[in-house]
This record gives sequence, C-alpha cells and structure tokens, in this order.
Amino acid sequence: MAIRKVARLGHPVLRAPCRELTRSEIRSHVARRLVDDMRETMAEYDGVGLAAPQVHESVRVAIIEFDPGDAERDLDAERTSFTVFNPRTTVLDPTPAGYWEGCLSVPGMRGFVERPRRVQVDYLDESAKPATVVAEGFLATVFQHELDHLDGVLYVDRLADPKLFAFNEEFNRYIAEGG
Ligand code: ZN
Repeated sequence: MAIRKVARLGHPVLRAPCRELTRSEIRSHVARRLVDDMRETMAEYDGVGLAAPQVHESVRVAIIEFDPGDAERDLDAERTSFTVFNPRTTVLDPTPAGYWEGCLSVPGMRGFVERPRRVQVDYLDESAKPATVVAEGFLATVFQHELDHLDGVLYVDRLADPKLFAFNEEFNRYIAEGG
C-alpha cells in the first residue's frame, strides 16, 4: 500500500468525467491496489470519503469510511464503510439536507451545501457483484459528494450561498460557535 498524492482544486483531473471499469478490471490486482492506496491515503488525511480522481485516476471508484460513533456527524446509519464501483444514484427524497462539507482536494476549507436527504446508490462491489445501499442524512451527503467527483463536480460548485464558505480555523472561531 502507498499514500498517494491528492489532487487539489485547479488540477484538471478533478474536472474530467471518469470512465466506468469493466467487471474484470474491478476484480484485477490493479483495482485492488488502487482501493488499498485510496484507503491508506484517506486515513492519512483524516477524510471520510475519497474518489479515484482525487488520486489522479479517472475511473468510477469511490470509498467511504468513517467512525459510526462520531455523534458530531449526526449519523444513524449502521454501516459506514463502502467501496463502490460504477455507482448510480437515485434520489428517494429530494428534501434538502444541509451540511458543512470539506474535501481533501480543497484543503483547510469548508462550505455549506444542501443535497437531497435520501438517495439510493446502485453499484458493483469489490467482487464486481451488484449491490444497493439506501443512504440518509449525513451518509447521503457523503455519497453524493464522493459520486459528484466521478462527474468532475466539486462541492464548491454547489455552495448554498457563496458566503457560506470559510477556512476551518475561522469556521471554528466564528461559525461553529454561533458567533
Ligand atoms: Zn471531495
């Protein structure tokens, strides 16, 4: 495994639509190594999700992994670890749910984004078998954020209000405290 370099806002790889992988590619050592490296990279940078283009691979793969005990993240999902290939999203409830999002490709910043509160994601798992997950609330936001990356879309494109965008330090000092 290896920690890979994370592409930052402005790098064209983050804006290119990614291609799907074939089932045999998904089962290959190349895909396994990519996913292992993505997990290690995400852990190193303390992320909750990572999409392949963020490590300069323009393919439709994303991982999501975080501590379910993290109450701050308003989570009632049982499962919080996913590796998804060729995912497709269907909105089940378009009611907007707003969260302050961050991204390893936009380091040190966060912004407020509203997304549909409940979605279904159909994907292929690491054995290239079809799988489905229904995600709500924070988990739904994490899925939509990561899967946007596969279409070259970043959360900064979806800010609810351009003023609701801040450096983490200022966010913690002036916004999180309600100041
Ligand atoms: Zn991101």
